[in-house]
Amino acid sequence: MIRFDQVVKRFGDLTVLDHLDFHVRAKERVTLIGPSGSGKTTILRLLMTLERVTGGLIEVDGRPFSHMPGRGGLVPANEKHLRVARRKIGMVFQQFNLFPNMDVMRNITEAPVRSLGRSREEAETRGAELLEMVGLADKAHEHPARLSGGQQQRVAIARALAMEPEILLLDEVTSALDPELVAGVQCLLRDIAQESQLTILCVTHEMHFARDISDRVLMFDRGRIVEDGPPEQIFGEPREQRTRDFLQAVI
Ligand code: ATP
Repeated sequence: MIRFDQVVKRFGDLTVLDHLDFHVRAKERVTLIGPSGSGKTTILRLLMTLERVTGGLIEVDGRPFSHMPGRGGLVPANEKHLRVARRKIGMVFQQFNLFPNMDVMRNITEAPVRSLGRSREEAETRGAELLEMVGLADKAHEHPARLSGGQQQRVAIARALAMEPEILLLDEVTSALDPELVAGVQCLLRDIAQESQLTILCVTHEMHFARDISDRVLMFDRGRIVEDGPPEQIFGEPREQRTRDFLQAVI
């Protein structure tokens, strides 16, 4: 479903991703762990087309995504393919990024109406189901400023799901939350991961969440994958010294 083939990403002189290869199969739930600054968020930003590769190729569903090597350097992938692939991907960020001037229902329904061509009524019916699912059925007409951080993140999750993505990217989704709100949001995401058909790529510093949500964990360091395996291996019997050192430092 997602394939990185020799992907290089540089910011000036800093090489963040160094000929990175990995793939994520459809419906797989993969978590990226590793030290701060190792390039995990950059991977998600490339998939959101918020950044461009410096070299190499990203494919989504077998089609080139983002820019790709061509005559005279990197050329944009076919615009139509890119739009179709991009529509399959939803993201939840560390900062909730809700629209402050819209109520909760409008936050959830705006994109399906504008980008998927849903009628307002259809979008609101689905919006109400999603709000029920995230435990905020009674907050449809509140504005984000009147919600707690945990509630705002639940709205952001509902908003991402309202676009009917096949791939969900989760970037440190609980790190801006007060500690007592973290477990509730993690539980919600674990249930969504288990009950949906979504392909999930998650970046987190919370190892128990990584263990709960993933069927594969990639240990990442300095732009490269140092270990790739099921959570039982990575957290129970890591094979690489680098993984052991990292886990010892964070757990
Ligand atoms: P963290 O766990 O702290 O979020 P990370 O592994 O997600 O870290 P990235 O956010 O991908 O790491 O950043 C990797 C490196 O790239 C960092 O050194 C960061 O400072 C640098 N970087 C990221 N975005 C930019 C940018 N737009 N311009 C310059 N440098 C950047």
